Amino acid sequence: MQYNQPQPGTVGYPYPPQPGAGGYPYPPQPQPPSYEQAVHVSGPAPVRVQVQGAQPPPVVIIQHQAALPVGPDASFITCPHCHVQKLTRVEYAPSVRTHCMAALLCLIGLWCFACLPYCATSCMNANHFCGNCNKFVGVYNSD
Ligand SMILES: [Zn+2]
Repeated sequence: MQYNQPQPGTVGYPYPPQPGAGGYPYPPQPQPPSYEQAVHVSGPAPVRVQVQGAQPPPVVIIQHQAALPVGPDASFITCPHCHVQKLTRVEYAPSVRTHCMAALLCLIGLWCFACLPYCATSCMNANHFCGNCNKFVGVYNSD
């Protein structure tokens, strides 16, 4: 009865250990870096987010230019914008007085004449624009 017993003088392992390998079938591998080392080494640098303060709103400079004293009709003025003396161009716009006149006409039964205040320039505001640069220069209030 022959069992797998090492024969004297022979090597009983199927793969004999290499000389100098220390008897292990696989040579010892270099240890990989531990988890903590990997985190500390390969972790990206923390990104510092700079929270910038709210930008101050842009300063809006509003130039208050006094409206020129103008009448209900086109006036000869010196434009504050282009400094040219010229007759103004007038655009009439209905004012509170215009609407009140129309409402009053309706109340007294003259509703068919309610459009008259919107045709009479004397009942409306007169917006004056420069005849040269076409900028607003003043308004005549009929109120
Ligand atoms: Zn002008």
